[in-house]
Amino acid sequence: MSFVDYSDADAWLSYLAQVDRTTPFLGSLVRWVETLKRPKRAVVVDVPIQRDDGTIDHFEGYRVHHNTSRGPAKGGIRFHQDATLSEVMALAAWMTIKNAVVGLPYGGGKGAVRVDPAKLSRTELERLTRRYTIEIANIIGPDRDIPAPDVNTNAQVMAWMMDAYALTKGQVVSGVVTGKPIELGGSLGRKDATGEGVYIAAREITARLGQGLDNQKIAIQGFGNVGSAAARSFAQAGARIVAVQDIDGALFCEDGLDVELLSRHKANSGSILGSGTGTEITREQFWLADIDILVPAAIEGQITANIARTIEAKLVVEGANGPTTPEADAILTERGVTVVPDVLANAGGVIVSYFEWVQDHSSYFWREAEVRHKLGQMLTDACDAVWRAHLEHGVTLRDAAYILGCRRVLEAREQRGLYL
Ligand code: GLU
Repeated sequence: MSFVDYSDADAWLSYLAQVDRTTPFLGSLVRWVETLKRPKRAVVVDVPIQRDDGTIDHFEGYRVHHNTSRGPAKGGIRFHQDATLSEVMALAAWMTIKNAVVGLPYGGGKGAVRVDPAKLSRTELERLTRRYTIEIANIIGPDRDIPAPDVNTNAQVMAWMMDAYALTKGQVVSGVVTGKPIELGGSLGRKDATGEGVYIAAREITARLGQGLDNQKIAIQGFGNVGSAAARSFAQAGARIVAVQDIDGALFCEDGLDVELLSRHKANSGSILGSGTGTEITREQFWLADIDILVPAAIEGQITANIARTIEAKLVVEGANGPTTPEADAILTERGVTVVPDVLANAGGVIVSYFEWVQDHSSYFWREAEVRHKLGQMLTDACDAVWRAHLEHGVTLRDAAYILGCRRVLEAREQRGLYL
């Protein structure tokens, strides 16, 4: 395996193509657009760990600061066996746009370790996390770059990161990561924030389309932290979660799956199968199900052109980052399917990360109702701004979000100027 793998740069190339689509709308800011087309800083690190049997293994780690024009870099860390530098570059760039679209005082960053965490014991995972943190310690920090959970990472991983960072500084620095356990300065409402945000974005956009969510048939791909929390919020609002797909299979129930039961079963067994709710269907049947709304909440590139041609949904709400390929995106637009883009639909997580960082800075913690209220406000305002740009320019919601986001980043770039 090469040290830096560019063989699969699909995500980065699709990001670049998306930026190109905004250039006609940038006016004089177009002079700065190259800023968005390269990461500010990209670090590749070796992460060696001792396995429980005494042998030594090496893993590749990455941390990318795509842009810091509007503030410190901000974005998650994922543990995934297929992670590559170019993928992390795309994920970091999407954070730049996302943070700007919802108005957070951050740039964009992302990190990954190329590892399948399911193949590590808990102690190996802890050693990996700590070693990776030490390797990137000189580029992260509460005013520099603030990691958070992403695919296959969680509050426990953030606790280890915070502790490893504190050991390098000789003091506790709770604002260096977000998505921490509550006892360590985490925020109430952070865990479910991405999923809740998916629901809020869906609610706001359907309302502007003159529709509601009551009794809508919803399919969710990926039943991890984002998918399961989104399912709960949709079900509470009266929608029916008729289909769910996860790593080990798919389920269907015309009257709506028992989402609480399914969440508990997944938390206890690690699988969506065998809970007693719904009947098992194939992956093909999942994509062809009779639904109104599709929520991809897994990883990139899942909605391909073939799937886009045949899905029944009239609305796609992107809980995952980059789930729709550019080809599929064009087909969905042509078919009249509305896509609520990832940089808006899944911004609830980073919004509450921001609230956590603010609370850590002031060491004053808010009640959950306050967190949720502020999340709703911020995301609703962002939906409103994206919707208005969509009407004003006659473009898709994705293009509208990118026009807003790119403009904000480039305005900051222009105001700061270049050191000669
Ligand atoms: N990983 C999440 C995302 O992709 C959250 C990032 C954060 O909270 O910084 O938006």
